[in-house]
Amino acid sequence: MMIVMKAEASEAEIAAVVRRVESVGCSAHVSQGDVLTVIGAIGDRDKVGGLGLEGAAGVDHVVPIQKPYKLASSQFRKGERSILEIGGRKIGGENFALIAGPCTVESVEQTMEVARTVSEAGVTMFRGGAYKPRTSPYSFQGLGQEGLRILQQAKDETGLPIVTEVMDVRDIEDAAEVADVIQIGARNMQNYTLLTEVGRSGCAALLKRGLSATLEELLMASEYILKEGNENVMLCERGIRTFETGYRFTLDLMAVPALKALTHLPVIIDPSHAAGRRDWVEPLSLAAAAVGADGIIVEVHNDPENAICDGPQQLASESFASYADRLERVAEIAGKAVSRV
Ligand code: PEP
Ligand code: MN
Repeated sequence: MMIVMKAEASEAEIAAVVRRVESVGCSAHVSQGDVLTVIGAIGDRDKVGGLGLEGAAGVDHVVPIQKPYKLASSQFRKGERSILEIGGRKIGGENFALIAGPCTVESVEQTMEVARTVSEAGVTMFRGGAYKPRTSPYSFQGLGQEGLRILQQAKDETGLPIVTEVMDVRDIEDAAEVADVIQIGARNMQNYTLLTEVGRSGCAALLKRGLSATLEELLMASEYILKEGNENVMLCERGIRTFETGYRFTLDLMAVPALKALTHLPVIIDPSHAAGRRDWVEPLSLAAAAVGADGIIVEVHNDPENAICDGPQQLASESFASYADRLERVAEIAGKAVSRV
């Protein structure tokens, strides 16, 4: 923590700040410049933070040096990145996770058909929602437990690990029996009870960035899962709200290199929910691979025209294999290989 004193701070005010830093067992190093004095507080960040020095006499501002997200931060990892292992597939590092499947589980036939298509194309994991976060309470809310049973069937047949969203802590236990990865959707990124309980479940988590969350808020949210001893967390950029109205969300591709500088956790991209339309999904996917994303989570449907939700953005099954092929080539240029068993 650096405490920057006001230009007019007196010797007594500087000495008072030093005493307060030392009173909590930390050491204070005073650097006197021509105009400003800066006090470096070394020791427990939380203890110095608890002193509330922002309001102390003679203090201009306080600059934290250590990141507040201790477990997610790359600061203590010496450049080492997390590599998650899920159902024998590696996520992170030089591995590219290709996660594909329908927006929502609609029926056995629809789910199995898409699962077979994406499995034949060699994806890493299968996605599908049994519990759906819908803007309107009158829209289809997902098949719930029946949807989980269908996902289990897809897993049994294809052997693919399952990614599925949970919105309510009461559904974690059931979902975790089927899911290899529990998705926490954008709208629940700051549902701290849900984050904590997913952390406790021990099931790997895919944490989506909130619609208007900063990267720091996303990392603080991941900290809730990590602090429960669950290290299997991947982050997902899925588009944020900006002033631009020309498209559904602004896919923040800069979040990939930025997050990689801040955290050791894998970072993946959801081009589907950002674009909201199928023809933009491939260019965004290729860009995501090129910018160094650790993977993609993309929506695919066997009959997108008649999909119950998100039809316009879901890739059609018949176009998936060639899409996956082009994506894999860009991932290779970025130094990654699609993770499969
Ligand atoms: C989804 O992946 O099905 C979904 C609803 O995504 P998001 O939370 O990013 O809107
Ligand atoms: Mn969707």
